[in-house]
Amino acid sequence: MPLSLACRNRVTALLIALMIIAIPAGSAALGQQATPQATPDTTEQLAAVLPEWHDELLAVMNTVSATYEIDAEVRLPGDGNPIPNITGTMTMEYTNTTGDLLTELPFRLYANAFDDLGNLLRVGDVTVDGADVTSNQSDDSSTVYVPFSEPLAPEDSATIGMSFVSAVPVNARQNYGIFNIDPSNGTWALAHWYPMLAGWDPGRGWVLDPPSANGDPIFSTTATYDVTLRTPADWRAVTSGVEVESTDIDAGIERRFVSGPSRDFTMVLDDDFEVAERDVNGTTISSWYNPGQERTGEAVLDYTAQALEYFNDLIGPYPYTTLDVVPVELFGAAGVEFPQLFYMSAGYYGPNQNLDVPNNLDFTVAHEVLHMWWYFMVGNNQYDHAFTDEGITQFMSATLYFSAAYGPEVGEIMTERHLTNPFRSNIEGGNDQIVDTPTDDFASSGGYVFAAYTKAPVGFMAIYDEIGEEAFNEAVTNYFYDNWFTVASTDDLQEAFEEASGQDLEEIWSHWFEEAAGEDDI
Ligand SMILES: [Zn+2]
Repeated sequence: MPLSLACRNRVTALLIALMIIAIPAGSAALGQQATPQATPDTTEQLAAVLPEWHDELLAVMNTVSATYEIDAEVRLPGDGNPIPNITGTMTMEYTNTTGDLLTELPFRLYANAFDDLGNLLRVGDVTVDGADVTSNQSDDSSTVYVPFSEPLAPEDSATIGMSFVSAVPVNARQNYGIFNIDPSNGTWALAHWYPMLAGWDPGRGWVLDPPSANGDPIFSTTATYDVTLRTPADWRAVTSGVEVESTDIDAGIERRFVSGPSRDFTMVLDDDFEVAERDVNGTTISSWYNPGQERTGEAVLDYTAQALEYFNDLIGPYPYTTLDVVPVELFGAAGVEFPQLFYMSAGYYGPNQNLDVPNNLDFTVAHEVLHMWWYFMVGNNQYDHAFTDEGITQFMSATLYFSAAYGPEVGEIMTERHLTNPFRSNIEGGNDQIVDTPTDDFASSGGYVFAAYTKAPVGFMAIYDEIGEEAFNEAVTNYFYDNWFTVASTDDLQEAFEEASGQDLEEIWSHWFEEAAGEDDI
């Protein structure tokens, strides 16, 4: 989730008129046969995975419920096409891992829940096992339901097909600007640009909440992606996953990407990005930047390499071949994490960016690198319990990373700057909150930001102080291996600390995350 503050500006100017692109709706439901669980060919997906982790991640991929195959094309305005968009088709092999009979399958069209941008993402030609079906859209257009003619039994599979057009807004500030064209740099930031299978939380079922107003807007579960993308010639494509094929075509380039096990497939396209690269433990880190911004691009590469190496050692390995860092014009966020890729605010790339030790660029990079563990590999329901990824990420990046990288005195400076000082001033200002509160149940985004980014990390620091470094490190390693590629619960995290330390931590957990003691805590 985006680190940092600032109110979300939900007022947006869409510089170009959005015109509705009609896609023919599917025809009436026809018979559809449930088929036994297919074993998709996941071998090619291993290009995204480090060789020493092929066996483990192949096992993960053979049990995911969804495999996406997407064929998409960037379409610029002109030639009868009024607006910039991504036009494509998606085919998904879905296996029912819910344990229930399913009469329909929900897909999320997250871009459609933006307040004032209209229906940016439209689907049509919906099929189930090759037969046309009529899908139904929720009132806010953020969910489309694909019906099964016969209920899909547990462990049975079906093939879902649909076409889509995803209109990409220009200078749009909604959701921090994560789905937006920035005309000043020519950058297309493409989060949630395709129809996504709704996330499944084992503790709650399908998560169909409106995209969060206060925090990370989406929730998804682990799948695999095979994406073919056509763009104008010479465009860079920075994506989740790894490029496995590239072909020059008429007036453009066609690339194919595979993801390995992944919660999402995010892309950033740009016509003139440059890149600095380095290998860390077998992973190629690519730090992208616009021309003239090499200074920050190189610093981001240094910080990413340092953080990746540190967290690899502390927690357990980042098992992918690539990690990309890309500048994006963000509104109210310093960085945003996605699988195998994170956005950094373009504001960091100016010529006067502070690079003295310690600096906030380094802090944001460390925070977003750590999200590759807490959010991407170990998932959690960000709508209901955002503190379990944001809070622990904030504590481990401010306190542990800076202490390890630059010494305990620097760690103390960053702890005070980002955690204890803002904690004290918020408590003194009467802003205490109950941390474990659904993100959109906070009265304001400020309350959410305090709970997830300030109070929660102070709570994790209290647990660290209580159980000690060795037990803390053992707990996060066990939590990683026990829960990777799943959706972990708050109990999973608490139990990891209790098992590693041999201590009952119910009191300290409740105190920090389920109560608001106000001034008693300072
Ligand atoms: Zn975050």
